[in-house]
Amino acid sequence: MCNARLALALLATCAADSFSNYGEIDQACTMLESELPGCVYYPNSTAFEQSVASYIYAGSRLRPNCILGPKQAEDVQKAVQVLTQYPSVEFAVRSGGHNINKGFANTDLGVTIDLAALDDVEVSSDKSYVSIGVGARWGKVYATVEQQGLSGISYYSPERGWACDSVKSFDIVLANGSLINANAQSNADLFRALKGGSNNFGIVTHFELDVFEQGPLTGGSMDYGNVTGEQVVNTITSFKQPQMFDKHAMLIAIFSYQAHKHLFSHSATFFHTRPEKYFGSTLEAFTRVEPQTNVTLPVMNNTAGFFAGLSGSYDPSYAPNNFMHWTCLQFRVTKTILHKINGLYREHSLRLANVPAYRSANLTVFLVLQSVPATRPGNSLGFEPDSHPEKDQLNLLIMYQYDEGRMEVALQREINRLTKEVEDIAREERALSQFIYLNYAGSDQKVLEGYGKKSVEKLKRVAAEYDPDGVFQKQVRGGFKLSDVHF
Ligand SMILES: Cc1cc2nc3c(=O)[nH]c(=O)nc-3n(C[C@H](O)[C@H](O)[C@H](O)COP(=O)(O)OP(=O)(O)OC[C@H]3O[C@@H](n4cnc5c(N)ncnc54)[C@H](O)[C@@H]3O)c2cc1C
Repeated sequence: MCNARLALALLATCAADSFSNYGEIDQACTMLESELPGCVYYPNSTAFEQSVASYIYAGSRLRPNCILGPKQAEDVQKAVQVLTQYPSVEFAVRSGGHNINKGFANTDLGVTIDLAALDDVEVSSDKSYVSIGVGARWGKVYATVEQQGLSGISYYSPERGWACDSVKSFDIVLANGSLINANAQSNADLFRALKGGSNNFGIVTHFELDVFEQGPLTGGSMDYGNVTGEQVVNTITSFKQPQMFDKHAMLIAIFSYQAHKHLFSHSATFFHTRPEKYFGSTLEAFTRVEPQTNVTLPVMNNTAGFFAGLSGSYDPSYAPNNFMHWTCLQFRVTKTILHKINGLYREHSLRLANVPAYRSANLTVFLVLQSVPATRPGNSLGFEPDSHPEKDQLNLLIMYQYDEGRMEVALQREINRLTKEVEDIAREERALSQFIYLNYAGSDQKVLEGYGKKSVEKLKRVAAEYDPDGVFQKQVRGGFKLSDVHF
């Protein structure tokens, strides 16, 4: 419901037709400030600079005209009510700020809503789920659930499915400013759409995630040094043969090439969610790959929170001046595909290292190969219900990390080229999946198209129902937008 201040704001916008977009943005910021005193930050204030600096990669640290830091879901409602009165003003929605695509969770011309303060975490009294504010960090979530002997992490995904499959409900602020709950019974179409449909429907403030009792897991991590990677490739290829599938085994293999050092290295990090079954499992083969240069994590049993914590907090101190591009693909692991991709990757990396500007930008090229989740009903990702990608497919994340912003355009072009060439290999092997994982996808990739026409049509129907004026298509431009998808 609009209150008196909002009515005044409406009058003000009518009178402001002659203002440039800058004028409109300033008015929107001023109106937000009067509606939500103490929650609006301007450039050069401590809160503004802290928010901008907290994006993990330098390329995402855009400078909006003002930042709104809601303290509670009701503040988000008010913010949406104000911002929709200024249809020419773009706004961005940010929770963790970990998506590295420029402008996905920030804007340099408009308002950014930084949801970091919505970080409450509470386990349900029956210990079956945890309610999470969207600004919460996983460290806080693990600290809370593990106190109660509970868990849940992507290491279980080959058995249990995607993280979104474990969501019980979402609280979401719609374009009309209402705060509703979407779950399997109520607003069920929106509930499904939010499992994969990204920021096309509203602003999520909280969600409830299933948790379960879990003892220790087995985990290990080792580096294999400056070798061709062929032995690692062989081991991964055997691991992914369907007859070897183990739903309790999770693999993350990383190939990296540091251009300025001319150094290739490889590592495997793995987890087994049934420690009593680790010995004799397919994962053990990774401990036998030689030469091992470093055992980063000796094989051990510990909690999910312990293993997740080893990755670091991934705050900006992790990459203070680094820029990053990423893209991703998914494919079936044939006997030859990883060998071909490894060959291409090495050739590509060496070519980049011949460019002095890339070397001096400290470019590192990564390939990250990860197990993929099982298919569960109820999401929008478009997998056929009886498909089993987890048995023989891998997710490939391609990343470029470097520290000179002036290389952004050139390196975006290079990563797109490598991605296209990997895609060609996967197509030639008849192994390419149309699915592209949204969390790792480059901004030029066709993520929503990858869900398939049927799924996209459903998503569009839901968007039209819950956001009939298309606020989350027109005013929130960052992210993968349904309005950009045409079959
Ligand atoms: C170092 C690093 C490690 C990573 N590791 C993993 C990993 O192991 N597994 C994995 O799956 N991903 C991983 N990622 C990717 C990361 O999880 C995704 O990019 C994810 O989208 C980030 O979530 P976020 O809350 O930070 O989103 P943000 O960056 O804040 O936003 C991402 C998108 O979601 C939208 N959005 C954000 N909040 C809301 C909201 N409340 N309501 C509606 N829309 C919203 C934004 O508008 C934006 O388009 C990693 C990223 C980094 C940088």
